[in-house]
Amino acid sequence: MRAAITGGAGFIGSHLAEFLLERDWEIVCVDNLLTGAAENLAFARHNPHFQFNQQDVSERSKIKGPVDYVLHLASPASPVDFPRLPIEIMKASSLGTLNALDLAGEKRARFLLASTSECYGDPEVHPQPEDYWGHVNPIGPRAAYDESKRFAEALTMAYHRVHGLDTKIARIFNTYGPRMRLDDGRAVPNFVGQALRGEDLTVYGDGSQTRSFCYISDLVEGLYALMKSMENLPVNLGNPEEISILAFARRILALTGSKSEVVFKPLPQDDPKQRCPDISRAKKLLGWQPKVPLEEGLQRTIAYYIQRIGT
Ligand code: NAD
Ligand code: UDP
Repeated sequence: MRAAITGGAGFIGSHLAEFLLERDWEIVCVDNLLTGAAENLAFARHNPHFQFNQQDVSERSKIKGPVDYVLHLASPASPVDFPRLPIEIMKASSLGTLNALDLAGEKRARFLLASTSECYGDPEVHPQPEDYWGHVNPIGPRAAYDESKRFAEALTMAYHRVHGLDTKIARIFNTYGPRMRLDDGRAVPNFVGQALRGEDLTVYGDGSQTRSFCYISDLVEGLYALMKSMENLPVNLGNPEEISILAFARRILALTGSKSEVVFKPLPQDDPKQRCPDISRAKKLLGWQPKVPLEEGLQRTIAYYIQRIGT
């Protein structure tokens, strides 16, 4: 099997590439390194089955030879990038998705879109099932990301319905693990980095908002199961164990043994108040559910950051 992975130098894309290479797949990684890093791909440096194309997915490009799967992950994904890179985000999920779908059509390949729980916005239904249409502010600071992913889903379904393309849509919920950039701004690298450096942990708002964190190896297994499945409608992939952000920060303090304190900072506009995936469909259709407990996933992640920071 040969897969093109857009965004393959990023956090999730690099783990997916590594997983597939271990199963003897050939990988063509397409990435412009906007938020990814070549060092995430160190495991593939001397692998003849791996090719790296440094390109922007919003521009048309060619890939030589057969391709069985196009896995479209390219897009900045951190809330700190939403106001910083809104146009790049919208191009990656509009023009980028269009180009990736066309590539899949040309190669008669299966297509997978890395969509997001952000499609549900600040949800009024809890936990979120796939048939919930969401509650998104179309002009707010998160809009570039949320709306372009919603557009990408609509475009993917249009290619499926009009061209009969075999498409998959993964609605990915908060995922964490090694290779998340330390300065990426999301809760896990922020809290772990702050705890290890002895800095205050910056909880936004009063910390009562909730998230559900999925460890990267579980997510990659879910993506693989979805790629191989017959399902064309969106499937939630995430860990349904929900935790408040304040409790999460305290868990990280306990696991790192840090003497840092929690400080409260203003809550960003439109920050979702609660988020938890309903994974009934993933369980039924893919026979998948997360296996790695939060404590274990955090310990592995902390070990990675200790190495990076050199603490
Ligand atoms: P990431 O920033 O680590 O990876 C994204 C990759 O895409 C980077 O390597 C970046 O350089 C590349 N990229 C961005 N724009 C590009 C462009 N125009 N052309 C080529 N490459 C481009 O982020 P991630 O967390 O690994 O997210 C990967 C995908 O999964 C994204 O599509 C994101 O929306 C989705 N997702 C992630 C999460 C999560 O919790 N990590 C949750 C939901 C959805
Ligand atoms: N958050 C926080 N402090 C930080 C970073 C994030 O309190 O230093 C909060 C953020 O406001 C949100 C949650 O943690 O409520 C998860 O944020 P993240 O950026 O990881 O992902 P999101 O779920 O918002 O996409």
